[in-house]
Amino acid sequence: MRRKAVKRKFGKGARKCVRCGSMRGIIRKYGLMYCRRCFREVAPELGFRKYR
Ligand SMILES: [Zn+2]
Repeated sequence: MRRKAVKRKFGKGARKCVRCGSMRGIIRKYGLMYCRRCFREVAPELGFRKYR
């Protein structure tokens, strides 16, 4: 699964992080379009707390 990116997990065109433009680990949850990294930085601002 991780070796070849043949199948697109996000349908038409891979989604990009609206913050940094990365396509790795994009989170579309809650209608967001951030990658995992940015999500962790933005989450607190949106009211999300870090994993405990
Ligand atoms: Zn990002």
